[in-house]
Amino acid sequence: MTILGGPAIDQQRTSGEIAPGPNSQEWAARKAKAVSSAIGTTMPVYTESAGGGVLRDVDGNTFIDLGSGIAVTTIGNAAPAVVEAVKAQVEAFTHTCFMITPYGPYVEVAELLNRITPGDFEKRSALFNSGAEAVENAIKVARAYTKKQAVVVFDHAYHGRTNLTMALTAKSMPYKSGFGPFAPEVYRAPLSYPYHDGLTGAEAAAKAISVIEKQVGAENLAAILIEPIQGEGGFIVPAEGFLPAIVEWANANNVVFIADEVQTGFARTGALFASEHEGIVPDVLVTAKGIAGGLPLAAITGRAEILDAPQVSGLGGTYGGNPLACAAALASYDTIVKENLVERAVEVGDILISRLTELQAGDDRIGDVRGRGAMIAIELVKPGTTEPDAELTKALAAYAHRHGVIMLTAGTYGNVIRFLPPLSISDALLNEGLDVLAEALAATK
Ligand code: PMP
Repeated sequence: MTILGGPAIDQQRTSGEIAPGPNSQEWAARKAKAVSSAIGTTMPVYTESAGGGVLRDVDGNTFIDLGSGIAVTTIGNAAPAVVEAVKAQVEAFTHTCFMITPYGPYVEVAELLNRITPGDFEKRSALFNSGAEAVENAIKVARAYTKKQAVVVFDHAYHGRTNLTMALTAKSMPYKSGFGPFAPEVYRAPLSYPYHDGLTGAEAAAKAISVIEKQVGAENLAAILIEPIQGEGGFIVPAEGFLPAIVEWANANNVVFIADEVQTGFARTGALFASEHEGIVPDVLVTAKGIAGGLPLAAITGRAEILDAPQVSGLGGTYGGNPLACAAALASYDTIVKENLVERAVEVGDILISRLTELQAGDDRIGDVRGRGAMIAIELVKPGTTEPDAELTKALAAYAHRHGVIMLTAGTYGNVIRFLPPLSISDALLNEGLDVLAEALAATK
């Protein structure tokens, strides 16, 4: 494979227990004095280089990366095509501000997004810096287009940490607690959560639509915003039929349907976009994370009449669609196509599902194995129940971290371990990472 990337790293994990070395400890001490303590870190080690599913710390320890920096480095860290494209761009110019003297790569990224996102209607795109900023702008265009104000989001949703996106996000601690007041006109509907609600997609959609009609009213509702597979909420895949029913209701009621594909987009789920799994066509689709191989870029893409609804200069920002990030996005998409990474995500998902269901068969603390493609999770419960076990989840992740595997948790109840490996990872490394999970399960029995 040519997507390994990163400075020459031995593609292996440091064996045995890893304690942060002297260099990481020194950085941690400096962080404590220099960085707001509100910025937490999952791992106690500091990064020196990364690529090919391996991360090396500043003391020379190497870790298997099963998190991709939260679903960002899908094509691999320091992917060669991205490195080359960014180098060429940084030598030409670093910034002009697209709103002052525009440049081609921004337009090329917009053309690309308009072409590859679901829906064969005329589309427009606009570029931003972060997922949260793009979500905010999706709401802005929906309000400008419909001339309505209310927004419906779902239980367990995560959409960001800015003021509007905190209101859209479900979980209070740590994302919202103490940071109110929150933006008004945000309403929450029940999600389809098959493991817990036992409902079919149609039943769960009927429940959500009833809440929307009774508590908001289509005449007030600008947009319905949903992650096709919830990310931070715990990789919840709605029951089949739920998403299409919500889209159908939105279409029939002049309500803009917005898919937040910030975490699910760009090959992650074994499709270019998760909306494709059930053939839904969002009016507006939000992307970020995996779009640009690690450079900060986000976008909204959707129906031309919706994206063109706000007044000129109503959308924008100093850095949105920065030329380096645009060059990276174009190279990143080329890599997805050339390296067949959609197919690779399916393969990675097959390995994850087969290993994890095998573990589940012998361990009644694994309540559920779910997800799509290279976005798979396990939900951990008290044996014989569906009650969350956050303590066990923490212990498993901590064991993995000590034994050279970067493993992330998620879930409203903190009882989900999620797997988001870069698609540049080898089968052998992925399996080794899962061996460590098996060891962790045995060690906590
Ligand atoms: N939406 C979803 C679905 C996300 O997963 C995230 C980030 N975890 C965001 C929005 C916010 O993105 P950012 O952190 O880039 O603002």
